Amino acid sequence: MEAFARTGEAIRATNSKLEKTRLLGEYFAGLDDQTLPLAAVYFAARPFADRDQRKLNLGYAVIRQAVCEIAGVDEGVLGESYMRHSDVGDVIEEVLAGHTHPQPTSLRDVHETFVRIYEQRTIKKKAEALRELLDRLSPREAKYIGKILTGDLRIGLRAGLVEEGIAKAFGAPLADVSWASMLTGDLGEVASLARRGELRSAQLRLMHPLQFMLASPEEDAEAIMRRVGGEAWVEDKYDGIRGQLHKEGDRVVLYSRDLNEVTAAFPEVVAAAGAVPHDLLLDGELLAFKDGVVRPFFELQHRLGRKVVSAELLTEVPVIFVAFDLLYLDGRNLLTEPLRERRRMLDDLSLPSPFMLAYLIRALDAVELDRIFEGARARNNEGLMVKDPESRYTPGRRGLGWLKLKKALATLDVVVTGVEVGHGKRKNVLSDYTFAVYDEAADRLVNIGKAYSGLTDVEIAQMTDYFKSITLKDYGRFRLVQPEIVLEVAFDAIMESGRHDSGYALRFPRIKQIRRDKTVREIDTLANVARMHRAFTGDRVQLVEPAQA
Ligand code: AMP
Repeated sequence: MEAFARTGEAIRATNSKLEKTRLLGEYFAGLDDQTLPLAAVYFAARPFADRDQRKLNLGYAVIRQAVCEIAGVDEGVLGESYMRHSDVGDVIEEVLAGHTHPQPTSLRDVHETFVRIYEQRTIKKKAEALRELLDRLSPREAKYIGKILTGDLRIGLRAGLVEEGIAKAFGAPLADVSWASMLTGDLGEVASLARRGELRSAQLRLMHPLQFMLASPEEDAEAIMRRVGGEAWVEDKYDGIRGQLHKEGDRVVLYSRDLNEVTAAFPEVVAAAGAVPHDLLLDGELLAFKDGVVRPFFELQHRLGRKVVSAELLTEVPVIFVAFDLLYLDGRNLLTEPLRERRRMLDDLSLPSPFMLAYLIRALDAVELDRIFEGARARNNEGLMVKDPESRYTPGRRGLGWLKLKKALATLDVVVTGVEVGHGKRKNVLSDYTFAVYDEAADRLVNIGKAYSGLTDVEIAQMTDYFKSITLKDYGRFRLVQPEIVLEVAFDAIMESGRHDSGYALRFPRIKQIRRDKTVREIDTLANVARMHRAFTGDRVQLVEPAQA
């Protein structure tokens, strides 16, 4: 542990990325076979490898208790120290100075303690195990335990540098190290493989999140056809939550786009996956789906962050998992297989409900592709994903294998009814606009939203003067104005809401332009809004039931 802390301090002391990598490489190269994997994982500020199911989830309370006991101080002392350093590791070093009984401690000893902490069920027992470890370390070594436990070493070692250190230590190509790390989710194993020159034998392991493949934006059918070659595969761009589902034996884990585990929030998907007689890794999108239609994104948000999903919520917001890719099946890594093959295997799985498959249309030229785009626009859907059927799955990259065509969905012409001063540098100008549509039945304007951005500073300044001149009533920050300025407002969705008197609200409204060519008589009606709302909650996207695939 002494050498680990010493290396950490040396890395912290230099700003040169090259020098940090060199120090790390030199340290790794000098370690024995048992210590090397632990050191690699600890330098990534993890008590266990990412793939490891064991998570310590050690709150500050446990650390505080252990440190207070050793130093014989109360919590206030730690609090003051924290105000000075803003780093738990530094607090530990300062508070423990002169209070521990250092003896030589190996990284294997540290590992054993981490396992013990993991196995203990109570905070008291966890703190006890941690106290025993910290007590036999120097304050500087103890500091690094704190840093590992809080998941950030704060020595300027950004993600990726550990991989570079491993490459440097054993003369391996960085690309091989990164690839192996992505497949295994275990930097310790990667370091060992690198030492033995066996990086290329790394196997894809389930139960740790793989980076998602991303798409590059493209707007024109001709350009897309040039990129993907002879054939383009077009899928709807579903507006839900990206999901990655792993199943191994009877265990199922679900990760979201930010690589966090969301298994508990989607029990019906997990249960259905559990019944599939294969080990697999699916990529797809989670959508709220009720009575045969996809529901708007915000309904899905009710399901997120749940540890337990109530029976009511399960019936209120049912979800489906729309699978569009298969990356692993029964021991076979499919990442380097062409999409054509991956999709064939996905179709053959006949996944049970609530799994669905992305609806796939094949286009052979730009004319066909344009026709498909038109169809999607008519359905009012979010956009399209175009994929090259010959492409591999490239985790974490915005490659050219996938292209996205995303249109600002829909716009409304509205009239400004009120204006308000902004915030920050806009605190002296009227930059926040409340706007309305026309309710024909009641023959009145009804507010539907408020937008803050989209105009240039010059435009805002001009509009400020103008709005002052048409102010009906000045309430201080807010002014009611004569409804005559028409805006074209873009947004992502329409939802029912009691916030405005129209009964609707817009998701992410932004001002596209001032429609000086339009008068208030030409703005959108409430009936239009209701119709668009139905389109949003209705069948904007196409799906396939797996059995019919
Ligand atoms: P963006 O967030 O605009 O970069 O678009 C990429 C996102 O679109 C992905 O992360 C997915 O969550 C989502 N997506 C929706 N439908 C698909 C699809 N058919 N294929 C791939 N990604 C999709």
